[in-house]
Amino acid sequence: MTVPSADELLETIRAALAPHGLFLRGTVSFADGEEAPMLADGRPAASIVLIGNIGGSLWEPFSRWRDGEPARGGADPLDNWSKQVIRPVAEAAGAIAYFPSDPPWQPFQQWAMRAERLKTSPLGILIHPQYGLWHGYRGALGFDQVLPRTGSISVGHPCDACVEKPCSSACPADALAAGTFDVGRCRTHLRTQAGAGGCLAHGCLSRDACPVGRDYRYPAQQLRFHMAALSL
Ligand code: SF4
Ligand code: SF4
Repeated sequence: MTVPSADELLETIRAALAPHGLFLRGTVSFADGEEAPMLADGRPAASIVLIGNIGGSLWEPFSRWRDGEPARGGADPLDNWSKQVIRPVAEAAGAIAYFPSDPPWQPFQQWAMRAERLKTSPLGILIHPQYGLWHGYRGALGFDQVLPRTGSISVGHPCDACVEKPCSSACPADALAAGTFDVGRCRTHLRTQAGAGGCLAHGCLSRDACPVGRDYRYPAQQLRFHMAALSL
């Protein structure tokens, strides 16, 4: 049997993810001795492939799946769907799958910062120069081989050039006023009537105020789904 090249392997992964609205977002390779996630046999991975959504790309495939599931996919339907989609891709590629929802907790945000050179926004989530705050990571694959760098590599940081920072002024709880995200202020507001009728019903007003990547804004149903999943 011919062993696929690394580029062929990445193309196969891209093709397997596409029907599910998921994308190969980038790769990270680890130097000898560097902290790396474990493979199934206990060796450190040489590379990981990051998998995620861009804008509302996963919403329709996920919603279709959920409509056909008992109990609408369970208590954590998006995590359950991600595992059902990504585990077979990992198996076919000879990789191990990692998930943000499962221990041992992997540094997904750091991996994304390395893979795509993203930086954090005042909301604490990573901002992409094209997709803005409308993207996410659903899993990763670990390999025993070094994979080439791929995916979009960001240049610059949108928040550096954003003088007025509308994300901060849009928050009714002033949760970004100190320059970092105050989770407590945010959640306290969400528990109020105003919060229930505002951010919880329509999505985070700060996220919505960001001018970057507006074309990738999540659909209304997805916004409500993510807000409803928050622990309040
Ligand atoms: S509004 Fe400006 S500062 Fe806030 S996340 Fe968007 S680009 Fe960054
Ligand atoms: S969800 Fe609402 S209260 Fe929380 S950070 Fe966003 S705008 Fe502020």
